[in-house]
Amino acid sequence: MSYDYNVVVVDPKSQTPIGACDHSISFERYVVNSDDFRTLNYLGNPAINMRAPINGAETVQMWVGGEEVQQSDPTYGWSVVVDPDRVQFPNSTDIFYKIMFNKDVRLVVPLIEVSYTTRQQYCMKCSGLGMINDFKISSGNFWHITQTDKLAQKALKWILTSQCSFYPSFTCILKSYIGKKLGIQLTETDIQTSVLNALSLMQQVQQAQGTVQSLDPSEILKDIVSVTAAIDPNDPTIVRINATVSSYSGTTAPLGFTVRVNQ
Ligand SMILES: [Zn+2]
Repeated sequence: MSYDYNVVVVDPKSQTPIGACDHSISFERYVVNSDDFRTLNYLGNPAINMRAPINGAETVQMWVGGEEVQQSDPTYGWSVVVDPDRVQFPNSTDIFYKIMFNKDVRLVVPLIEVSYTTRQQYCMKCSGLGMINDFKISSGNFWHITQTDKLAQKALKWILTSQCSFYPSFTCILKSYIGKKLGIQLTETDIQTSVLNALSLMQQVQQAQGTVQSLDPSEILKDIVSVTAAIDPNDPTIVRINATVSSYSGTTAPLGFTVRVNQ
């Protein structure tokens, strides 16, 4: 059995999103306000205090010069208080807080880093999307993906991201459709054909690979069971692609993704 790192955003079996973001902001940089020597200002824009709302004061951690400092620290003790000066958007429920040292801190250019949990629309980790398409860590290790799930991930990678300037014939043309107009330069049949061709190439490459390397039967593409591409009935700029492939262990892997095109 071989494995890859799990990077899929949607569970191929249940079609539900995985990799939900915890909206935790890590080591954001701050400086002490040069007038009151207490309040933290965001280094990226010292006119404001916190860059984003804090979602739970208990999630806040602070480091000064690389050393974590607790709220009760005799020198660098701090507290989280409501920031009454931060202008909110009308009807917004977001409450901004600021972090203040309990005593004056007159360090020359101290490195102050703050980690905290924010709300989705302010999250730099997921760019407000709520999901992270990134390597996922579970109990200190990256998540491995094996067998049919790996086959699905490999097929999706091949379709969506394959690029090779040396062997362009072994990639999927789908990426070159970016910027084209549906119905004029491009049809849903072109999309369907590009997916079908990419899967067929992957099948050939895996067969060649199988002659020099042993692969798990559930990770080898046996048949392309179906590939459909249909324009969303409610939004003509969206093409929904669904494909099913089977493996040599008898399992099938559904592949689904959506392409949004120019109007
Ligand atoms: Zn997030």
